[in-house]
Amino acid sequence: MDANCRIFIIDDEEINTLQLEHVLQECGEVLSCNDSSKALSLIDTFRPDVIVLDIEMPKVNGFDILKELRQKHYFNDLRIVVITSHSDIEIEEKALSLGAIDFISKPLNLTLCRMRIENHVNFKHQENMLQIAQSSLQSEKEHLRITLDSIADGVISTDDNARINYMNPVAQRLTGWSLIAAKGKHIEEVMSLNDATTGSRSLNPLVMALQENRPVAMAINTQLTSRQGITHRVEDSAAPILNSSDEQCGAVMVFQDVSETMAMAVQMTYLSHHDQLTALPNRVLLHDRLTQAITRAAFSENKLSLMLLDLDKFKYINDALGHHVGDEIIAHVGHSLDKFACNDITVARVGGDEFALVVPHTSTLSNIEPLIEQVLNVIGTPFRIADEQHVLSASVGISVYPDDAKSVEEMLRHADSAMYKAKHEASNSYCYFNDELQLAMNERLRIGNLLRKALDENTLEVYFQPKKDLATNEIVGYESLVRLIDEEGKCVSPLQFIDYAEETGLIYRLGAQVLEKSCIVAKKWLDAGCPKQVAVNISAKQFSDSSLVELVASTLEKTKLPSRYLELEITESALIDCYEQTVTQLKSISKMGISIALDDFGTGYSSLSYLRLFPLNVLKIDQSFVRDMLTDSQALDIVSTIVELAKTLNLKIVAEGIETTEQKQKLQSLGCKIGQGYLLGRPTPFEKNHKQ
Ligand code: C2E
Ligand code: MG
Ligand code: MG
Repeated sequence: MDANCRIFIIDDEEINTLQLEHVLQECGEVLSCNDSSKALSLIDTFRPDVIVLDIEMPKVNGFDILKELRQKHYFNDLRIVVITSHSDIEIEEKALSLGAIDFISKPLNLTLCRMRIENHVNFKHQENMLQIAQSSLQSEKEHLRITLDSIADGVISTDDNARINYMNPVAQRLTGWSLIAAKGKHIEEVMSLNDATTGSRSLNPLVMALQENRPVAMAINTQLTSRQGITHRVEDSAAPILNSSDEQCGAVMVFQDVSETMAMAVQMTYLSHHDQLTALPNRVLLHDRLTQAITRAAFSENKLSLMLLDLDKFKYINDALGHHVGDEIIAHVGHSLDKFACNDITVARVGGDEFALVVPHTSTLSNIEPLIEQVLNVIGTPFRIADEQHVLSASVGISVYPDDAKSVEEMLRHADSAMYKAKHEASNSYCYFNDELQLAMNERLRIGNLLRKALDENTLEVYFQPKKDLATNEIVGYESLVRLIDEEGKCVSPLQFIDYAEETGLIYRLGAQVLEKSCIVAKKWLDAGCPKQVAVNISAKQFSDSSLVELVASTLEKTKLPSRYLELEITESALIDCYEQTVTQLKSISKMGISIALDDFGTGYSSLSYLRLFPLNVLKIDQSFVRDMLTDSQALDIVSTIVELAKTLNLKIVAEGIETTEQKQKLQSLGCKIGQGYLLGRPTPFEKNHKQ
């Protein structure tokens, strides 16, 4: 029994109320009242579910109470059972018309009475439960409605005849139909779908979902035209709705406006395929165009040239005039090339100052020669930017399909090698890829792999070449020279891989390993009681690494070599390329007590005043002057000038590449005290030097 059910008994005879209270106590919470004039206010506060009401009462009778109760807003929630001693049909009729639902006649049969009231309590209980279920269903429905109304997708549901019964606000906005107007209409009438490209009418997926009783995705490229004629690109799907017996009772369709996403995708594709500065195709699109052009050339048995063009000395222009002007110049070049190129030529910007032209042509190369000249002319045409006249030149590398390359990657690689060659030969020139370049590329690849492996395994060798006092033949120090050993155990000269290491950035690891190995050896000499300074070559590129000073300091610490036994050999290009940073770094290195030598001196551009700015200790005369000085008076002049210069600047001087006694004597007569060269000792591994 429902303990929450409240039963209210109104009877003027106390004996009745007591008896009833007793038999009904199990049915719920029971309250009774013998004074009918107080009954109404008690009902207001007690709010019973079931009322047992006596009709014959003094002052206020049962009918009066019924009449009053009819005015109450909760009247419909009450189940009123009247008690009467009359079995008068009129009384029954009156009570029923006033809203009572049952009768109990006096004298009371208590068992019967309990059973009847119990039934009403049960009814009331079920009614209450139903009400609760209904209101929770209602609130769930409301919740769902709010959810559907607030999602960003359009939602339309229909009955099983595809007639609309619900549309959320997004669906109303996209179709241009209000729910009121669309309700009951067929989905095809409200949602007009077409193919975005052909315009042909598309079958609504909801109709298909109903026909085939399965979820159906909307065809790609679908366009929705609203009631007002506005079009939207839409995407999504429809599904049948099944009832609890798995029978189709309608369908729902969810769709979204993808117009903006599509527009954005188009814009993104453009941005990811074009260079922002010149609006030319970028490397990605070039790759695409090249692929297509190769397919066409293969089909028509024609040729295809890829010209890779790199502006000469652009870095200097950029450094001197600033990036802003640099950008304007690049934009100008891009524009000029684009204007020059006709329809079937693709012009792309593939890097900072690199452009590419994809040129389809017929079988002979001679037809593109004039074109190359024209391209160089376009680049060479003077122009004004920022109130200054500029004249540019470029180096062009050309790869030809199918002569030297069969794939996009090969064409790009070959054109790049050819461009590199052109650049090294002369500015404003062009070069085709050829067998010689192929060999050079293979060799570069081989050396690159060897070097990477040696660096990974820390197996680079370091040789040591003595520097001697020319008068006494005493060893004053060694220069460390890196060696790469190939698969056959042969030494590969650093001349073959230092450039590569610089270009690829491997020079940092190489420099660090050589420095450490050199310091370890110098420490061994020191420990063996014959201390010698070791001179380590440092590439200009290494100065671009801000941690160079740290590397030198930590290597000395790690190897426990006192700094006076270390010398660093730098070339003039290190001083020129990155002036500010290099000076600062050299000053720190010098402060540590490390000696600094300027290598290959005389081959660069250093002026006297310039040299003063750097904390140098040694000048090394380049071996080319030593080699030529006995036969070439100009070389001799240079050597004697360098010796004088060193004296003035208070720098030590070392002559490199002494191969003959004559050279040694000549150098001595000029006042050069220290020398290095095959005559005095070849570079050898540490073990050999150690035995000396
Ligand atoms: P460098 O620093 O000017 O070294 C002198 C080069 O001349 C060495 O060539 C040496 O073997 C060679 N040489 C010495 N005496 C004579 C001689 O009497 N006649 C002739 N013809 N040559 C002589 P190597 O070892 O092939 O090194 C070439 C260049 O590679 C070096 O020139 C240096 O610039 C660079 N290099 C060598 N090792 C390293 C290194 O560890 N790091 C860096 N960054 N560069 C290095
Ligand atoms: Mg050197
Ligand atoms: Mg040298």
